[in-house]
Amino acid sequence: MEATLQILLEIQHIDQRLSELDNPEHVLQFEKLGFQWQPEHRQQLIELRAKRAAQIDAELLAHYQGLKERYGAAIVPIDGGICLGCFMMIPTAWVQDIRQSLSVKTCGHCGRILFWVG
Ligand SMILES: [Zn+2]
Repeated sequence: MEATLQILLEIQHIDQRLSELDNPEHVLQFEKLGFQWQPEHRQQLIELRAKRAAQIDAELLAHYQGLKERYGAAIVPIDGGICLGCFMMIPTAWVQDIRQSLSVKTCGHCGRILFWVG
């Protein structure tokens, strides 16, 4: 997978964890499962996010932020040539590019960043 995409996926994962931390029901559920959230976990996530964010292009990061605010999940997989964000077809040539990890591509319909699960 393309390195930038890997970083973006990591940022998306961190963002999801942070939003779970903001949700008392999630925290309760997590604790019911026998785990414990500590304030330093949040700090760890925030620091890691800042580190990763500094490693990618600012414009791409801004695009990711916009998508996140609009849709929640900014980066989605493709399956059978279809974007799993909006369920529209992706051009075949793009699917090849994404599959071969040649570049970061966004869906022409919803704008989400696409990745291939091999
Ligand atoms: Zn789409």
